[in-house]
Amino acid sequence: MNIEAEQLVAEYFATGTLSGLPDRHFIDGAWHASMFGDRMESFDPGLGRAFHDFAAGGKPETDAAVEAASRAMKGAWGQMTPSARGSLLMRVAGLIRENAPRLAVVESLDVGKPLQEAEGDVAGAARCFEYYAGAADKMEGASLPFGRDHIGFTVNEPVGVTAHIVPWNYPISTLARSIAPALAAGCTAVVKPAEQTPLTALMLAEILQQAGVPNGVVNVVLGTGASAGAALVANPGIRHITFTGSVDTGIAVMRAAANNVASVVLELGGKSPAVVLADADLDRAADDIIGAIFENAGQICSAGSRLVVERPAHAELVGKLVERAGRLAIGHGLRRPRLGPVNSHQHLLKIASYADGAKSRGIALATGGNACIDPASGAGWFFQPTIFDAVPADDALIQEEIFGPVLAVQVADDADHAVALANGTQFGLVAGIYTSDFAAAHRMARDIDAGQIFVNEYFTGGILAPFGGNKKSGIGREKGIQALRNYCKVKTITARIAGHDR
Ligand code: NAD
Repeated sequence: MNIEAEQLVAEYFATGTLSGLPDRHFIDGAWHASMFGDRMESFDPGLGRAFHDFAAGGKPETDAAVEAASRAMKGAWGQMTPSARGSLLMRVAGLIRENAPRLAVVESLDVGKPLQEAEGDVAGAARCFEYYAGAADKMEGASLPFGRDHIGFTVNEPVGVTAHIVPWNYPISTLARSIAPALAAGCTAVVKPAEQTPLTALMLAEILQQAGVPNGVVNVVLGTGASAGAALVANPGIRHITFTGSVDTGIAVMRAAANNVASVVLELGGKSPAVVLADADLDRAADDIIGAIFENAGQICSAGSRLVVERPAHAELVGKLVERAGRLAIGHGLRRPRLGPVNSHQHLLKIASYADGAKSRGIALATGGNACIDPASGAGWFFQPTIFDAVPADDALIQEEIFGPVLAVQVADDADHAVALANGTQFGLVAGIYTSDFAAAHRMARDIDAGQIFVNEYFTGGILAPFGGNKKSGIGREKGIQALRNYCKVKTITARIAGHDR
């Protein structure tokens, strides 16, 4: 382990907190308390207790942040060349890497996720800034072929002030993947992190300032969705909203955006299947499926929360999964377990109620099924790695996003049936396909309605791969060059240069 991370972990377990954590709104390059003095607590899910508190705001703070971001659009930031913006973003990437141990420890503590996963998230955040740093001066427009008497071309202009609403499961990576292209395109931003996990957004804002991003370009307002989030998306100064969160909130955000005719990208929920045909490498598939559902305790929009398996492989594959699930070490995120806690007590109760409901409906429980504690401390908000077998297609375990370490298995008669089961929910975020038949894999990739398809490896991606959902999983795409378009408005300029009748 990195020595700095080790020291921070030791400090946390010795004192019950970490020194120097940010705790106020970041507006116009400065830290601000809430106008009405409200505060909220940060909880450590691994021990089930508070470790910090921070300012909670609403309309006055979001209004101030949007005003600062509007002023910044008209100031030095608006004059900066794209290549200068790119250099700034590259500096941000370097500073994220320099601060990686502290960012990862704070992220692990705030979310509850295993530290090694948080380290991966922080490295991914640095990659986002590198990727879009390189793209900032490559957003070319088009030359329009009117003929010799005209010239015509398009210009990609920044859309203006953008809002970034972030959930609690991947705070730094979700923010980095939207803020980096927004800045590359020349926009300014107001960020509303989840009230459960605000800390790394504030630390990132500090890093952006250190890198030389001018005051007001990135602002962070803290508070609940109902106060700060709703005020932000209703603000007429916001020209684009990138929202990542639940379907119901996404619908409310889209309604608010409609009032101001602002554009939206919605990254919403999922109920994604790993589809395994009988000819697949079952050990390989089992290893991947364990990661797909138990990474971050299943709190991943693109988690492989369903397994659709062809009947001849069903018993063997479920046996392999149960055996692997039984070997997952449960523990506090900072102790680098394989399975950490879920993010809040309220969320733990929600997961437990899904499991209890399934048990009462007589659905076969292959393993797990109960809330538990960290054996080392006797505390924390944990849920056992859980697998329900042979679940009917219309059951809540199949149709609803649980967002926890709960896998629902569906049995398919053949590849066509597997595709029908895979498509049988309101979601369409991702799907994994496991088979040794190349053509069958690509027929299923064609026929499954999802934003991304993984063949023989789950979660293949990274910042260069466009990501987003179909159906109720969302609208629009983040990541890749594609994401830059979210933050640009195209201006078409045409001119007659000859041939006027006099
Ligand atoms: P949530 O919708 O409750 O909250 C998400 C964010 O929206 C939070 O910052 C919250 O404060 C804010 N918010 C709440 N009400 C608001 C309102 N009326 N106006 C504006 N903002 C508001 O979701 P959550 O429980 O934090 O996150 C879990 C959900 O996020 C899951 O459904 C998960 O699948 C989804 N998610 C999707 C992706 C993706 O890329 N598709 C990634 C991560 C999480």
